[in-house]
Amino acid sequence: MIRLGTRTPFALTTLVASLVMAGAAQAAVTDDDIANDQATPDDVVTNGMGWRGQRFSPLETLNSDNVERLQPAWAFSLGGEKQRGQESQPMVKDGVMYITGSYSRVYAVDARTGEELWQYEARLPQGIMPCCDVINRGVALYEDLVIFGTLDARLVALNKDTGKVVWRQKVAEYEEGYSISAAPLIVKGKLITGVAGGEFGVVGRISAYDPTNGEPLWTRPTVEGHMGYVYEDGEAIENGITGGEAGKTWPGEMWKNGGAAPWLGGFYDPEIDKLLIGTGNPAPWNSHLRPGDNLYSSSRLAIDPDDGSISWHFQTTPHDGWDFDGVNELISFDYEEGGEVVKAAATADRNGFFYVLDRTDGDFIRGFPFVDEITWASGLDDNGRPLYNDERRPGDPREGGGEGESVFVAPSFLGGKNWMPMAYSQDTGYFYVPSNEWGMDIWNEEVAYKQGAAYLGAGFTIKPLNEDYVGVLRAIDPRTGETVWRYNNYAPLWGGVMATAGNLVFTGNPEGYLMAFDARSGEKLYEFNTGSGIVGTPITWEMDGEQYVSVMSGWGGAVPLWGGEIGKRVKDFNQGAMLWTFRLPGQAASEGLVSR
Ligand code: CA
Ligand code: CA
Repeated sequence: MIRLGTRTPFALTTLVASLVMAGAAQAAVTDDDIANDQATPDDVVTNGMGWRGQRFSPLETLNSDNVERLQPAWAFSLGGEKQRGQESQPMVKDGVMYITGSYSRVYAVDARTGEELWQYEARLPQGIMPCCDVINRGVALYEDLVIFGTLDARLVALNKDTGKVVWRQKVAEYEEGYSISAAPLIVKGKLITGVAGGEFGVVGRISAYDPTNGEPLWTRPTVEGHMGYVYEDGEAIENGITGGEAGKTWPGEMWKNGGAAPWLGGFYDPEIDKLLIGTGNPAPWNSHLRPGDNLYSSSRLAIDPDDGSISWHFQTTPHDGWDFDGVNELISFDYEEGGEVVKAAATADRNGFFYVLDRTDGDFIRGFPFVDEITWASGLDDNGRPLYNDERRPGDPREGGGEGESVFVAPSFLGGKNWMPMAYSQDTGYFYVPSNEWGMDIWNEEVAYKQGAAYLGAGFTIKPLNEDYVGVLRAIDPRTGETVWRYNNYAPLWGGVMATAGNLVFTGNPEGYLMAFDARSGEKLYEFNTGSGIVGTPITWEMDGEQYVSVMSGWGGAVPLWGGEIGKRVKDFNQGAMLWTFRLPGQAASEGLVSR
């Protein structure tokens, strides 16, 4: 009797559990969820808050009239001793937030309470070679998987409910200098990833995998001369798309360790059905060793997501001699000119120029400086190619007894803008660009390629251009090149930007503040100190009828490591590792009760 009595509730429990599981299965992230992400503010399931990476939210509940009442809802500590830079963009789906932390960690957190649901820590080998802090920029969500790239160049897929490993895949050899820090991209049932390692003479590549099991689908090297492959039944087949001739834009054997690492990943434009991905510096930095344009380094590539072939390329810094990686995001947008809709895409390059391209063919439309000082070039020609100031190319060490002539160049190699993503507002038509005003002394040195060793052939010291600020958040009109407003920040800006239909622009600074600005006037309307520097990217979403904002806090990234004299300015900034979430208090009372 007693057994029967306990059996009935047990069976009921099982039934309830299976219903809950069925519900969870329905809530898995679909291709449609990803394709529609920007228009569905109840979740954030793509890096960039939409396939195009505009980081624009249609939400306007929180707006320039009420943002001053924004308050923290909860904060979550990543814990442990492994703090360092926190550059992750959070994702949210069905009341659960997914973030990555430094040292290849992943967390699932209850989006209502901040309570941890699970965490995963990759076991990293001793010999990893990240160039610029042990950061990670976020996960991809697909079906019931949370997928991310690790510092030892693996992809790891975790079950979204348990954090348990479902599959692992090696993308490249970490011993050769490869690593992964970017968030993967899901397009049409494929998982796309780049690799980092341009400072170690790797060969950049973009690869596609089956996100359900990690099987390779295609791989596209980004140094001219290397063959791409598609995979059929696990076998690599040359796809006949060579991506150019070996030796055409590289001398001798230099293309074999040419860098051009697409370390920031990229975005997808469904209208032209192309991946838009940038590539890093040619290796080594010493440009005298590699006369020529060194394709496809420091370029933007439009890539066919089906087979990895390159449809077009636009090289921002041919024959790069300053580490002006061309990885920065290329963001699709439309504008009207003479009654016609222009299908454009824009990018703010490390080299200090802002480029507007025709995204259907990569043709140059216009370009202009977005920083106050550019010394390495005097401008751009009609095709967008830089007009070099030859005396600002660091000298050839073979002419200087081992060390070439040192020159002062602006921007510095950390760039007029680095990885931190800009936002595009569909309301104002402006790009909101996190930029930095700095220069560098740079000189070249002798260097030879050695596997697993730094392959720069250059030395440098970064210097500020102004006493009272380095960072500048700019609102830029891509149709005219006008800087509509600017906000100067003492420390270099290293965090991403978000724009909303509530006439707001959000970003954070190394001083620790999450800040909100009026999108049209640039007036600072809100700031809150998160206790450590912000080098992550904010998101906003809607839950239970209320609008939330989340951002990672945790000072680090490349500036404290490589900032030279600027590193001294920020050496006392405290590390940390917190995920902060904000909302409007009282909003439910004033609006939610009416609609309920
Ligand atoms: Ca969404
Ligand atoms: Ca680089």
